[in-house]
Amino acid sequence: MLLARPNPINLFIVRGEQQRVDDYLLVRTIQLKPETPRVEDYLEAIYRQVQERGYTSTIDLADKLQVKPPTVSIMLRKLDRDGYLMYEPYRGMKLTEKGEKVAISVISRHRVISEFLSIIGVAEKEAQHDAEGIEHHVLPTTVHKIERLVEFLRKNEKSLNAIRDYTRT
Ligand code: CA
Repeated sequence: MLLARPNPINLFIVRGEQQRVDDYLLVRTIQLKPETPRVEDYLEAIYRQVQERGYTSTIDLADKLQVKPPTVSIMLRKLDRDGYLMYEPYRGMKLTEKGEKVAISVISRHRVISEFLSIIGVAEKEAQHDAEGIEHHVLPTTVHKIERLVEFLRKNEKSLNAIRDYTRT
């Protein structure tokens, strides 16, 4: 049975029941201490930039996260120390498996939440903005429910249109 706010261990049972193997569920299940929003934002940004262009740098991250390069360097050293990435000043960085899992987890949460917000009629820019914040605080079981709802609405155009009509005003 699904508990309203299961502890992380119980999520294994939830996963088993629903036969879901989504990374974002796994990540928060195996890591009892969730990362801070800032750590998640860094890992997400590094992952995205490397996916998009094959590399990233202190300057690029500073740009993306709107902080000064020295701030980025400090954070990168911390992330290296905590096992999220390997960082060599002036040479580059590479996410570890642990860092990559967290990044994929955040990106999954972001995608589900922004899609949900778009579906109920929130404008793209606002949906992205809100998802940026919500993604760090939402429980895996909640993301899963939202994802299921989005799936349902994608398959049921009538319901989707009814909701869109209703939320328009
Ligand atoms: Ca964020």
